Amino acid sequence: MPNYANDPNRSSWLHVDADSDFPIQNIPFGVFLTRNDIITIGTRIGDTAIDLGALHQLGYFDEIPLTDDIFLQDTLNDFILDGRQTWRAVRNKIATLFDVNNTSLKSNTAHKDKVLFKLNEIEMQLPVQVGDYTDFYASREHATNVGTMFRGKDNALMPNWLHLPVGYHGRSSSIIPSDIPVRRPKGQTLPPDAETPIFGASKAVDFELEMAFITTDANDLGDAISIDEAEEYIFGLVLFNDWSARDIQRWEYVPLGPFLGKNFASSISPWIVTLDALEPFRVDSPKQEPKPLEYLQYKGKKSFDINLEVAIQPESSIETVVSRSNFKYMYWNMAQQLTHHTVNGCPVCSGDMMGSGTISGPTPDSYGSMLELSWKGEKPVQLDDGTERKFINDYDTVILRGHCKNKNYRIGFGEVKSKLLPAK
Ligand code: MN
Repeated sequence: MPNYANDPNRSSWLHVDADSDFPIQNIPFGVFLTRNDIITIGTRIGDTAIDLGALHQLGYFDEIPLTDDIFLQDTLNDFILDGRQTWRAVRNKIATLFDVNNTSLKSNTAHKDKVLFKLNEIEMQLPVQVGDYTDFYASREHATNVGTMFRGKDNALMPNWLHLPVGYHGRSSSIIPSDIPVRRPKGQTLPPDAETPIFGASKAVDFELEMAFITTDANDLGDAISIDEAEEYIFGLVLFNDWSARDIQRWEYVPLGPFLGKNFASSISPWIVTLDALEPFRVDSPKQEPKPLEYLQYKGKKSFDINLEVAIQPESSIETVVSRSNFKYMYWNMAQQLTHHTVNGCPVCSGDMMGSGTISGPTPDSYGSMLELSWKGEKPVQLDDGTERKFINDYDTVILRGHCKNKNYRIGFGEVKSKLLPAK
């Protein structure tokens, strides 16, 4: 089925600002609480939220084979399970319905009252129930920077790094939507020059600039999926702030890797932008040398040109953009990550979330964490309000934003924004 929803010539009868992340060509999916306290699945055009549950009840999706309650749910998991043909049919139908030349809903005031919401009338929820969460470590620049700091320049990249997308299993229980505050975690750390650890609040809370992709059911236990079909199982992407406590991480991570320094919170943007909507923004991935093993070799363009930025906003002050990066810097792309994840027969399910790993670019202003931006605290980052940061302070708000842009239009993710609160 063609992707009619991506037609660059289409405009909507709903107002869309010129620099909006959500033109009619985006049509992301999310879950929100309406002004009537009903949880529904919805989409967004400009600054208008659209209740897909209400639209479906009013008969606007009758020609698509959907179960009656598919949008009247508090997560997108079942809709994602329906597969790419259904996602595409629903996006195409929404594009047609809100096309400037279509009057069927536009001229029906009673229906519009049921279906359309201003953003201040809704409360965004976690869009999926995340069964499993995996985080990769797929930016060569990030891995090299962190490796240099923790192990020295000569051992920066571990011997496996250029041969496989390194990853670990995280905790889905602490994945939270934008606007939910995060508590500074407590834990064990080894102070500099000390021989025994202490317990207390982390002194090195950091963000990680990541994106995450959300999958549908991909394979049964024991089966692998090939790299040619991997993207068929990717529903869409969100911005992902993988909060990290560097002092806890540094003391605990050998030999089994990330644990309590990472799993206290990860914040995501609430609108899932579909892989279909990102099609026009495909670009080549970085050249891989040495060539990966055959099961990881791919054809075509598997990376996406997504501009990313991180801002820090101190309490009652202005924000400062501290990093500008791009999703295309990832050495290992999503298709390779998903293929590698299932190569041993590990099943991937609807609603699983795969973090990209911190996305650092080649220049110091494109690093995706404070650990790198401040070079483990040696070079504090100057903020526009005159203060400086080595890591994140209590009551700072960290904001991640992302968007793609070509000559026709801009497709964005909005933002994920979370305030750090003091330790309990
Ligand atoms: Mn991470």
